[in-house]
Amino acid sequence: MSYHPKHPKTRSGCQVFGFSGEQAPIPKFHAGEVGVRLQFLSPRKTNLRLQAISDIRGKYEFDQTTSPPQWEIDKNLSFINKINAADPNLLPSLAGGQSPPILWIGCSDSRVPETTLLDLRPGDVFVHRNIANIVTTGDTSVQSVITYAVEHLHVKCIVVCGHTGCGGVSAVIDDHKFEGPLELWLEPLRKLKHEYAGQYGSLDGSVEYSKRVESLVRFNIQAATAIVNSSSVVQEAKKVRQLDILAAIYDVGKGKLQFFM
Ligand SMILES: [Zn+2]
Repeated sequence: MSYHPKHPKTRSGCQVFGFSGEQAPIPKFHAGEVGVRLQFLSPRKTNLRLQAISDIRGKYEFDQTTSPPQWEIDKNLSFINKINAADPNLLPSLAGGQSPPILWIGCSDSRVPETTLLDLRPGDVFVHRNIANIVTTGDTSVQSVITYAVEHLHVKCIVVCGHTGCGGVSAVIDDHKFEGPLELWLEPLRKLKHEYAGQYGSLDGSVEYSKRVESLVRFNIQAATAIVNSSSVVQEAKKVRQLDILAAIYDVGKGKLQFFM
């Protein structure tokens, strides 16, 4: 989404519980790839994108001699080599099926790649991500993922994770209106803000902007976790085995997870 919060500040003071953070792979862009992507953008957006890419160019090396698909192929080969060097049996074993212990429900944000930030590998995490990690009873996508993960994969824990500086949450705090599906998608979050604003002072306009965003991020995580927990599939599973439902917030600026609730 193109919306960016006015004050995308990160919070501080997070704790890590058993996981070590790892930086996401550094992207390597090509001039050809940039051109292909830019042709779909409006002139204004193109200028903004060019500026962003220009910033990236200052940081990362560009290879102007290879065609765009070569970048993905090279990175994929790099991934295969790293995995095979660490564990030659992993990829062949995964061809036989999956048995992930964790279901992760998080935000689509590119800065919150669950497998990377948990320092885990393919096959470890079953994933559902959407904008602002919104969970509702009427969303057949997330409900199907929960059902499959619990009933068929027998995951041992479900992590509901939000994050600092969430664009979707910030848009709701700002009362920013979108057109089309985004507006519809964020409606549950707008209702949550309206509902909680009357109960908690932390969403008052007088409160510092970043703290209001963080408050709504946390309220959203709590609401999502409650819906996951109340799911009949989850309740049934809890009767016969251990199934932990964990709420977490990820600090983008620090790479740290904090579990709460
Ligand atoms: Zn987000």
